[in-house]
Amino acid sequence: MRETLEFRIDEKDARRFLQSEDGEVLGPMGHVRKVVLDSSDSRVEKIRRAHLELLQQGSSFFTYWDIRRTYTKKEWEAAELLSLHIRNAFEPEGEVCGTRYDEAVACAHCGVGARQLNELRLDPSSLPRGKDITRTIAYSEILFSARLVEALRAHGMTGARFLPVLSKDGRRSLDGWFQLEVTSRPLEVTPPTRFGVGPFDPDERGEYRCPRGHIPGLSILTELSVRREDWDGADVCAAKQYVGYRSRNGGAFRPYPLLLVSQRVRKLFGELRAKGFDLEVAHLV
Ligand SMILES: [Zn+2]
Repeated sequence: MRETLEFRIDEKDARRFLQSEDGEVLGPMGHVRKVVLDSSDSRVEKIRRAHLELLQQGSSFFTYWDIRRTYTKKEWEAAELLSLHIRNAFEPEGEVCGTRYDEAVACAHCGVGARQLNELRLDPSSLPRGKDITRTIAYSEILFSARLVEALRAHGMTGARFLPVLSKDGRRSLDGWFQLEVTSRPLEVTPPTRFGVGPFDPDERGEYRCPRGHIPGLSILTELSVRREDWDGADVCAAKQYVGYRSRNGGAFRPYPLLLVSQRVRKLFGELRAKGFDLEVAHLV
């Protein structure tokens, strides 16, 4: 496995802490430096120190971060389950288009467990083109393209139901898209999986952790490991724990599940050249 970290850094700060040859300056204004490093690169430590220094001043060294992992063919083939990361989102979210939620049944700390009361309703013109998996900016409303759903059904893939998506007025169903509902047994997340606010911030104060255990952190920082005995053999699964957060005061964000798919699904997605997501090797322990 090869792991790379990407950072976007304000050019003023980048000049203070990095060499001019570290990364590339983006855009015509030249205000942002993009730095992509192998996780073993010694400059990662340099960025960590700069970040901790600025964090103490209530600031942040980078404005964006991302971790990507690539694998050899052998590593891909050996995986039993893969974690699925959706790489695109659109707005507006379901709630402003007439989707209703029962918040009374949700966890008072983290918002996990809010129940969707009607079909997912969306603005048809907001859906992305050229994607097979997407989600709204609420994060928890996940959609699969009709061609993907058709293929999953034709191949007898288990562990998911695909529900119709309706237009805002509820009068017609949206062609081409279905909402994902995972029906397989949830998988307990196990060590060495780590969560945090960012690559150098394990959230020691527990700002984003649910005291009742629903959410271990804002983001997953490592590959995902889950308990083997929980896996019922389904092709589409979700971890028992969620990530993200429920925004208060009218914000759109909801906690969302960590999704997993089987090797059979990985191969099918490959054959279909399905788009809109990344896969990573997950571990059953
Ligand atoms: Zn909770």
